[in-house]
Amino acid sequence: MAKRVKGSKQRRGAFRAPQRMCIACRESDGKRDLIRLVRAADGVHLDESGKMSGRGAYVHPQVNCWEEALAGSLIQKALRTKISAENLTTLSASVSTLLQVTDESL
Ligand SMILES: [Zn+2]
Repeated sequence: MAKRVKGSKQRRGAFRAPQRMCIACRESDGKRDLIRLVRAADGVHLDESGKMSGRGAYVHPQVNCWEEALAGSLIQKALRTKISAENLTTLSASVSTLLQVTDESL
């Protein structure tokens, strides 16, 4: 068993990516390790390129984070918009495809 040292140095050298907070678990992570959502004129979309303009929010590419984000009003709050049921369905489908999970688990 390895000893656990509190405050031990983590690999900080390679840590240059901008940090963003996941709206579900509220943990910060590198921008590239999170999925961006963007508010567009016609609704909320997944921004896979990370380059769409508009107000954005970030969620980890993890089912539990998405469950939380899609179930509550976290996305609406973060993006200061309302999401229609239809938009939410489309969004869930895109997320499922992206995470390669079945619809039932999301
Ligand atoms: Zn998260």
